[in-house]
Amino acid sequence: MKSLPYFCRGEVVRGFGRGSKELGIPTANFPDSVVDSLPADVTTGIYYGWACVGNSDIHKMVTSIGWNPYYKNTKKSMETHVIHKFKEDFYGEILSVVLVGYIRSEKSFPSLEDLIAAINSDIEEAKVMLELPEHSKLKEDNFFTSTTDSSPASPSSAASTSQSIINGH
Ligand code: ADP
Ligand code: MG
Repeated sequence: MKSLPYFCRGEVVRGFGRGSKELGIPTANFPDSVVDSLPADVTTGIYYGWACVGNSDIHKMVTSIGWNPYYKNTKKSMETHVIHKFKEDFYGEILSVVLVGYIRSEKSFPSLEDLIAAINSDIEEAKVMLELPEHSKLKEDNFFTSTTDSSPASPSSAASTSQSIINGH
């Protein structure tokens, strides 16, 4: 996939209440503007990478890009499970992510237990893959640090806090 690593950020919006949180695997949803800007070769499926909420710490994550059942599968959705326990929800905050690698294609599962088992195995794979030096170094990318710089001396700060896609920075 030539577009990887793929950097993007956007506001966390409400999903369509599929109860991900009840399964213990909440997923922060991006708005359509972010999803519609995905390069064509970033296909549906499960990815691993790094994520950062607002200006806080950078964590490992898994992201699912899939067909949104709410829109009768005519629109893609992009949802990120950050591998970290947060004290509170973060709707409305800016989520920055880098998709680093591809785990698998979208699948349907015979039962909820099978789905949860697959997601937990995705999470374990993400944790291991992101330890590889070529993947862990992306955590240090200035894509993430640029969001913390609100100094007017920084010409990039206005652009970096916008909700647009920022890649090839
Ligand atoms: P929705 O359908 O609104 O996306 P979810 O059940 O998927 O609801 O929960 C997602 C929300 O949970 C996120 O928008 C975020 O505010 C919150 N949240 C709390 N912890 C996490 C986490 N570790 N990863 C992703 N989202 C989290
Ligand atoms: Mg969600």
